[in-house]
Amino acid sequence: MLATMTLQTTEQPPIAAGVFGVWLEEMRASLRGERGTDVPCGDCVGCCVSGYPVVIRAEDDRAMAEIPLRHIARAVDGRTLMLALPDGSCPMLRDRKCSIYASRPQTCRDYDCRVFAAAGIDAGGEERAVINRRVRAWRFEYANEADVRAHEAVRAAARFIRDKAASFPGRPPTAPTGIAVLAIKSYEVFLRADVCNASDEIVARAIVETSRAFDS
Ligand code: SF4
Repeated sequence: MLATMTLQTTEQPPIAAGVFGVWLEEMRASLRGERGTDVPCGDCVGCCVSGYPVVIRAEDDRAMAEIPLRHIARAVDGRTLMLALPDGSCPMLRDRKCSIYASRPQTCRDYDCRVFAAAGIDAGGEERAVINRRVRAWRFEYANEADVRAHEAVRAAARFIRDKAASFPGRPPTAPTGIAVLAIKSYEVFLRADVCNASDEIVARAIVETSRAFDS
């Protein structure tokens, strides 16, 4: 137990996350479904051992053919999920490698823990400790002042979504992934001069409207 706690609290040395502006545009293209992500994971398997249920979509037929049915469940909202094992690891992980890598679900192809580093938030609590260490290790580079402002705006958007939930017309995301993704979709709101003195309700509406561009 002591060894495990020591491992989980040890910070990683800095890891290059790429140029922020380039990463941001690629991430936004991924969120529009135009491309996948390309994360320099190295030997990290953080997201494969952190208890995430993996959403299986209709197009994941190759993955479904390889995942034993005992690992599949139906969520209350109707989505199909591959459940993590009791220890939090993905049932398809073998010797710290994905055993169905070539046919892995789109959810796994899209996952990029740099969204949390961009938003300035953790991936979750103790159950996400391995990912959190990676998140804190990422270091973005900035090619210009616009990159710096864009990163500040993403962080400001994440803070607003997290702290001003009551200002939103509907129910904003409360889980870290949802907060980070919405901040990346809507950060431009926090670059607008007219938002500086706007009410929280107007800012929240602008966030929702800006993010709708990713729905189509
Ligand atoms: S936690 Fe991040 S770095 Fe680690 S495997 Fe997942 S996406 Fe890659």
